[in-house]
Amino acid sequence: MSNEHNDYVRDLVFSLKKLPGIGERSARRLAFHILSQNDAAAFNLANSIVNAKKNVNLCKVCFNLASEELCPVCSNNSRNEKMLCIVENPEIIYVFEKSGNYNGYYHVLHGLINPLEGVGPADIKLKELVDRVAGEGFEEIVIALNPNSNGEATSFYIQKLLAPYNVNITALARGIPIGSDLEYVDKDTLAEAISGRKKF
Ligand SMILES: [Zn+2]
Repeated sequence: MSNEHNDYVRDLVFSLKKLPGIGERSARRLAFHILSQNDAAAFNLANSIVNAKKNVNLCKVCFNLASEELCPVCSNNSRNEKMLCIVENPEIIYVFEKSGNYNGYYHVLHGLINPLEGVGPADIKLKELVDRVAGEGFEEIVIALNPNSNGEATSFYIQKLLAPYNVNITALARGIPIGSDLEYVDKDTLAEAISGRKKF
């Protein structure tokens, strides 16, 4: 950013630029927008970030976002306790819940195995997954990872990892285009992929 802006503006742009999908231009536009608002609007935004960050942690069972010890899914005991769905991040749970077609529990990996970026099995919540499968009475494990190379690699790894346990492992049906992000799949397509899931 050029010198005609002071350090405060430059800092704000710099912070915004770190957000996913935000380049230099968008960051500048957001910064100018925030600064053009009245104090209350800008402070509300800042406070929302601080409050969310202070109060939202990870569910101690499934690693979804939670403001209590357990997330809303894990604290709901009327769900199907025989089913566990493995997802990459908490955003996917949001999409699944919106599709309204899944009533079991979740396990969030917080990443995928990604050899090129040095992310190995120990860097995501796989040990915790095995502990849950060993200790809770799941009958079906649905692997719902993005259909890209890291998602496939992670799915195969999970399948090997869970092979010693007496559970059915299924994967989403192939309605979901290869390389697409589950975050952006519409809810009908996702609902179809869930109901058409196949044995892995
Ligand atoms: Zn949970």
